[in-house]
Amino acid sequence: MPPRHLYVHVPFCARRCAYCDFSIAVRRITPVEEYLRALRMELAMLAREHGAQSTAAWTLDTLYLGGGTPSQLGTALPRVLDAIGEVATIAPDAEVTIEANPEDVTPESATAWRRAGVNRISLGSQSFDSSVLAWMHRVHSADQIPRAVEIARGAGFDNISLDLIFALPRSLDRDWKRDMESAIALDPEHLSLYGLTVEPRTPLSRWRDRGEVREAGDDAYAEEFLLAHETLGAAGYEHYEVSNFSKPGLHSRHNSSYWSGAAYAGVGPSAHSFDGARRWWNVAPYAEWLGRLTADSSPVAEVEVLDEENLSNERVYLGLRTSEGVCVAGDELAELEPWVDRGWARFSSVGHEPMPGWVAVSGTPATHAPTSIVGTQHSKLTLTANGWLLLDELATNLTCIRSRSYV
Ligand code: SF4
Repeated sequence: MPPRHLYVHVPFCARRCAYCDFSIAVRRITPVEEYLRALRMELAMLAREHGAQSTAAWTLDTLYLGGGTPSQLGTALPRVLDAIGEVATIAPDAEVTIEANPEDVTPESATAWRRAGVNRISLGSQSFDSSVLAWMHRVHSADQIPRAVEIARGAGFDNISLDLIFALPRSLDRDWKRDMESAIALDPEHLSLYGLTVEPRTPLSRWRDRGEVREAGDDAYAEEFLLAHETLGAAGYEHYEVSNFSKPGLHSRHNSSYWSGAAYAGVGPSAHSFDGARRWWNVAPYAEWLGRLTADSSPVAEVEVLDEENLSNERVYLGLRTSEGVCVAGDELAELEPWVDRGWARFSSVGHEPMPGWVAVSGTPATHAPTSIVGTQHSKLTLTANGWLLLDELATNLTCIRSRSYV
């Protein structure tokens, strides 16, 4: 069965943001024709691989146009959807998301996107402080964010997500609480929050290496993450994944497909695909992706085959990211007990009400411990906000407990 979720990477950006290490192509003028030609070739290749000989044989439930900056395609963006429509059917109730930067949201472009069937905008807001945005090398200013939301609403978008970055260097004196309140005032359906990380070979890493900027420490990260959990929770948003909040019933369906382990396909430079047992990804540089497709060869850079243990570990990690959690067996629960006990002390020092530990357990414990307990009587383990601060550590602990079954 061809995958029901498709990611399209549109790599173009007006300039590189200080923290960004994504696969992008900085272009003053977006090479729409060149990109679309290559994209069509890759989509046709993908349809052939899946044996989808007609659009009736491939239905998409979610489509995500990410980047890069897909909104740089402006009123040409519907042509991407046309290209997809040549090989697949976009289901009538599909979630179709575009990542947009505020400066690209004009009445003309937003209307064109909505008419083409895009029904969700993920807006790269990052902060409502113009000096912080300038420091990040963002193109937009703070006042362009509410304007973009207003234009999108006017064009008929009733599902808008705002991206914000937290844990910025203390020296910027950024008011995180005020930024979240500014976001809430725009009444978005969804928010994605990302802690700033210093990636190698970015302007930010050079500033850090020269001693011009100091990263926020773990305490600042924890403090702002927990403040977001409280503030957005009080405003009616569900913290349904470590980095994502939504109004009830408005989780990102596309991203939820990644976390649930569903098969997905990706096209465009650096795009990843997964079929349930293998993961593969395209070459990242735009020129290489373009060159390969123009020569009618595959843009795939590498394929990783996942064995049952890899898949199980991945299910644990992805499950713990979300409020869905993971199923655990009775004897696993006994080993997890310390997680419940040790949680409090670690983050109670940041000035928030202590939360009850790292994990929450619900349901009836299984009386046996099969390798895969999906579909058996089980308990469900979810991480609390405190627990999400230790996601990697806790996921590693659980996968270690489980890996004994594979010895
Ligand atoms: S707009 Fe997005 S993809 Fe482009 S450089 Fe900035 S953060 Fe990276």
